[in-house]
Amino acid sequence: MQYLPVCLKLRNTPVLLVGAGSIATRKARLLLRAGSDLTVVAPEITDELKQLLASHGGTWQPQVYRETDLHGRYLVIAATPDAAINAQVSAQAQSLNIPVNVVDAPELCTFIFPSIVDRDPLIVAISSSGTSPVLARQLRHRLDAMLPAAYGRLAEYAGGLRSRVKRAIPEEGPRRLFWERMLGGAVGEQVLAGREARANELLDEMLEDTEGLSCGEVYLVGAGPGDPDLMTFKAARLLQSADVVLYDRLVARPILEMARRDADRIYVGKRRDDHAVPQGEINQLLVDLALEGKRVVRLKGGDPFVFGRGGEEIELLARHRIPFQVVPGITAGNAAACYAGIPLTHRDHAQSVRFVTGHLKDGSTNLDWSTFQSESETLVFYMGLIGLPVICKQLQVHGRRADTPVALVERATLSEQRVITGTLATMADIVTREQPKAPTLIIVGNVVSLHEQLSWFGEH
Ligand code: SAH
Repeated sequence: MQYLPVCLKLRNTPVLLVGAGSIATRKARLLLRAGSDLTVVAPEITDELKQLLASHGGTWQPQVYRETDLHGRYLVIAATPDAAINAQVSAQAQSLNIPVNVVDAPELCTFIFPSIVDRDPLIVAISSSGTSPVLARQLRHRLDAMLPAAYGRLAEYAGGLRSRVKRAIPEEGPRRLFWERMLGGAVGEQVLAGREARANELLDEMLEDTEGLSCGEVYLVGAGPGDPDLMTFKAARLLQSADVVLYDRLVARPILEMARRDADRIYVGKRRDDHAVPQGEINQLLVDLALEGKRVVRLKGGDPFVFGRGGEEIELLARHRIPFQVVPGITAGNAAACYAGIPLTHRDHAQSVRFVTGHLKDGSTNLDWSTFQSESETLVFYMGLIGLPVICKQLQVHGRRADTPVALVERATLSEQRVITGTLATMADIVTREQPKAPTLIIVGNVVSLHEQLSWFGEH
């Protein structure tokens, strides 16, 4: 991170603005809105800025900038048309350790202004760390359109309740749960709709009955195959509300980083000795954390109910009557096929598709190979890298043609994605040579022949 975003309290704080043209006027408006004690130094001034200063109680010093103007200032902004003066202000402010911003000259700044979505008292600040202000502005427009204008009112309403809620619910965990349910539920909706009287009634009811807040909740969330853009809105929202996140090695780091900064993250994948945390231990941990009142998200790669043991994890929760939800995710089979340009079904090539586990113990398998004969069925093998030679051999032994196309998709949807193709006859040797790294997915069937044709424009 090149810059740390912070919110400065500027009320009645001495701030210096050097320059008084149109850009300086824009900055002055912002600084005055934040209540700063603003002094503008410039030989000439726009009428607009003059009026602004008069109505907000700022001062104009009609003179050229001098170093002494910096004394006692908390913040300095240089916005003159003269590059030499701007550079001088920057150097002198820095030597006095005063944070300084020079308009349009990131190299002279010790802080920068983000783009703002203003729903005062709620403020969203967006910065591209000086790399692309236009990109930041575009993002601001999108957020602006997304956030109801009344969000500020909701923040104000919540602000006015803080001490009452603290008294009613002294414990931190249940209190956060209360806020989440209150803001995201009926009370929040009523405030946004401008019906505060009704909101107050509902609020009273909520505060009278805080029983349900002592037990936590568990969400079994499908995180998708790796690319964070492939998560659902619901997955992202729940992840951001979690107190604790349980994850394993299939969950990509950028996805984990979407969790709240102060959320506990617990790794339950393979340990250094290569042994996974036993499933029973994970199930129990979910129960224990929920009983402590925590909001727990168990992140699963892909979809929780596709080779994810999601069923086992919720069984114990159901037995303990702990509220839970399962959130579907895009399974690796779907994602790998799309990102590799291999349609899983196709009118000419495949009328059905089957997801199969290729996890073969000791080279043997209890898969019923005789049911895999159909030429018009696409097979998708999960966990099949080690068993690949056996899979290719058994499919041929049981009637699939030796020249049936096969694709292996390595690290699907991630920037390192690679697609290796061959046939049932050649694939084992090719994979030995290419040494792909987990996770990988194997797709078998005539649809794989479309990969060449459909993937050239399919760069993601
Ligand atoms: N629940 C997951 C599957 C878990 S089983 C889902 O729905 O996707 C683990 C297997 O999934 C891996 O062995 C691999 O075969 C496959 N897999 C998961 N993510 C993958 C990825 N990004 N690329 C290729 N295969 C992946």
